[in-house]
Amino acid sequence: MKRDEGLLRRLRQGLRKTQGALIQRLEGLLLYPKIEEDLLDDLEELLVTADVGIATTTRILGKLQREFRQKGLSEPLRLREYLKEEMASILSQGLAKPLSPPCPSKPWIILFLGVNGSGKTTTIAKIAWRHQKEGKKVLLAAGDTFRAAAIEQLRTWGDRIGADVISHRPGADPSAVIFDAIQAAKARQVDLLLIDTAGRLHTKRNLMEELKKVKRVISREIHDAPHEVLLVLDATLGSNSLVQAREFHRALGITGLILAKLDGTAKGGALIGIVDELKIPVKYLGIGEGLDDLEEFEPESFAEALLIP
Ligand code: GDP
Repeated sequence: MKRDEGLLRRLRQGLRKTQGALIQRLEGLLLYPKIEEDLLDDLEELLVTADVGIATTTRILGKLQREFRQKGLSEPLRLREYLKEEMASILSQGLAKPLSPPCPSKPWIILFLGVNGSGKTTTIAKIAWRHQKEGKKVLLAAGDTFRAAAIEQLRTWGDRIGADVISHRPGADPSAVIFDAIQAAKARQVDLLLIDTAGRLHTKRNLMEELKKVKRVISREIHDAPHEVLLVLDATLGSNSLVQAREFHRALGITGLILAKLDGTAKGGALIGIVDELKIPVKYLGIGEGLDDLEEFEPESFAEALLIP
């Protein structure tokens, strides 16, 4: 109970930027005498401004009108609770299986994607740390060979948490690093192999081709791997993250999302549009730079933090 309250507080804190505007304007809508066209227009604008995205906003409003009509409801006061439940329901999609590796499949391989600066390396360290604490043997692979600093950064995290890191020199073929990492993971009886990848934005086509190759190499070595393909998104980006998620998903088939930097001046509304469009579950939220600043995603708490003062 205590932990949940703490989580809600931290989420509210993180979502301040989205929440402040949303709640204030929603309060205004609740003052309308009944649900009518003007109110729906304002609500549409409100959701789009909160980065929910046009397609999802239109869908939410259409459903709202149908359901309120069917049930003979017209008081705006019910709007907030309705929106909270609708957002939580959208965010619950696909949220069934936990991330922990099941016993028989060793190594369990997770491929991490995300543009530079999104929080990918930090998130990898947090997830490695969490599994190590559960007694799992974890290996890291420095697949972003494009930036020497990225290799260094992963090594530094590896040192801090006591996990081995497989890396090559800067400029090496990422697929070769991944190949070596998989062989090492097999030989060392590793439970979990976490693979960092490049995320340079300015050469998008090459990046996607490189990442597809990495994925192919993984599947060639272990036929049902990667077992997860997780996209790390920067929570401060807002609607840009939908564009990013679409592109990564189209090229690589994402199986889960992680929203990092939710503790800053985050804009969380975008997550609703992303999950609604791509039907990809959210696995974790990053709420700080420390190793323990990772929370499992809870749709209800997230929607509540977004809409309820
Ligand atoms: P990468 O380029 O995607 O690997 O991103 P990094 O992991 O290097 O993170 C970029 C910056 O964001 C670093 O300064 C991290 O400390 C910071 N960062 C990562 N995750 C979080 C988070 O959840 N909260 C905050 N406040 N900062 C974070």
